[in-house]
Amino acid sequence: MQTVYNTYSLEKETFTPIQDGKVTMYLCGPTVYNYIHIGNARSTVAFDTIRKYFEWRGLDVNFVSNFTDLGDKVINQGKKEGLTEEEVADKYADAFLEDAAALNVEPATTRPRATQYMEEMVSFVEKLMAEGQAYEVNGDVYFKTNQFKNYATLSHQNMDELKKNAAGRLEDDDQDEKHDPTDFALWKKEVRPDVTAWPSPWGPGRPGWHLECSVMIDELLGDTIDIHAGGIDLAFPHHTNELAQSESYHDERFVNYWLHNGFVNVNDEKMSKSLGNFVTIHDLLEDDSIDPQGLRYFLTKTHYRRPVAYSRDRLDQAQAEMDKIYRTMRGLIAKADDNGDVDSDVEKQVLLLKERFVAAMDDDFNVENALTVMFELITLGNKMLTSSATASTISRVKDELASWLHIFGIDNFEEERELPKEAKAILEERKAAREEKDFAKSDELRDRLKEMGILVKDGRDGQSIEWSS
Ligand SMILES: [Zn+2]
Repeated sequence: MQTVYNTYSLEKETFTPIQDGKVTMYLCGPTVYNYIHIGNARSTVAFDTIRKYFEWRGLDVNFVSNFTDLGDKVINQGKKEGLTEEEVADKYADAFLEDAAALNVEPATTRPRATQYMEEMVSFVEKLMAEGQAYEVNGDVYFKTNQFKNYATLSHQNMDELKKNAAGRLEDDDQDEKHDPTDFALWKKEVRPDVTAWPSPWGPGRPGWHLECSVMIDELLGDTIDIHAGGIDLAFPHHTNELAQSESYHDERFVNYWLHNGFVNVNDEKMSKSLGNFVTIHDLLEDDSIDPQGLRYFLTKTHYRRPVAYSRDRLDQAQAEMDKIYRTMRGLIAKADDNGDVDSDVEKQVLLLKERFVAAMDDDFNVENALTVMFELITLGNKMLTSSATASTISRVKDELASWLHIFGIDNFEEERELPKEAKAILEERKAAREEKDFAKSDELRDRLKEMGILVKDGRDGQSIEWSS
């Protein structure tokens, strides 16, 4: 029996999907204005693991996650880089997909962009206004929070606290316009000449951030969905506001289970630009000493609701565990052959471990307990490798282990060929030659690498290599 911890009730609840055998799941995706940091990646990876577990259990998951491709962050980054808003969004959406692929994250069933749903957002706001749940002031439209009962429930704060905090937020320049400090923008007027605005009955503008997710969920998944996911920092105000406007719009329950992942701390401090400890996945993946799959394993091995403590040391410790997994899987792959019978005693042991693995994952995706069981399966695999186990019995253990590893985003077991030291030195030398535009020397060094069986190519991101045999 699957249980999930629901932030709405603050309790573990039995998970019963709306439609038997199917799960509708929405994850708030990134604003595409920069490379994602390790905190964004944690959320992406945590819910990818949960999705893959559902799929492993035979459920059909409709997984939607958006790109926020508009707003001040995108506009300001465009000014910095001399790009249009669309170019910024394209660039960092591509970068996100590349990072996600490197971490073996399964592509979303649908990956909508906010700017594709402008008309739907305008009509969503029109309906709320027609029903008296929203009001317009000078081209801005606000949602009336006091007309929605239980507005504060998901935030687990009381209304007075929320009002006090909202009134104290000095950076909000629209406080004077609002009827109540907790009211939030559905539509914002935009009159700056060099900034994209969309037409609406209230004049040119753009949607509020919360509105995007509500409308894309409505369009792509339906009135009520099984799971809405995101970082715990999104529970209020983002998810609280999504819930209020969607339930006002549909007059029925919006989400059955709210799942939130914990933070990532870097070197035991909160990650922030001012502390200079901002870690992007792009930078980590550029570092050749980091195995992307080891990074995925590091991000996955902590229970999704607990904070992840990142440091290079802890990443290296996770890599050591990853290397154990590689050794066993490579050994099993080399000896496995699935033609033949499986030893019945081994079969029994595998099924017992599988039962415990399922019990751990069914318990609100307790990856930590599941990994303990997985390492017991690895021990069994290692025993097979040094015993007289048949190739078909080895194959059985290998297949089971591979299917569990797939849930955690670990799919590649091919050994990377280590570059000889001499080749590394030549590559460095060649990089310097190219920077100095000494192409004759760079060509000569390329030929020397070719003699060593290494083909070098020059791309936008510098040199890349391939083995010729
Ligand atoms: Zn959202």
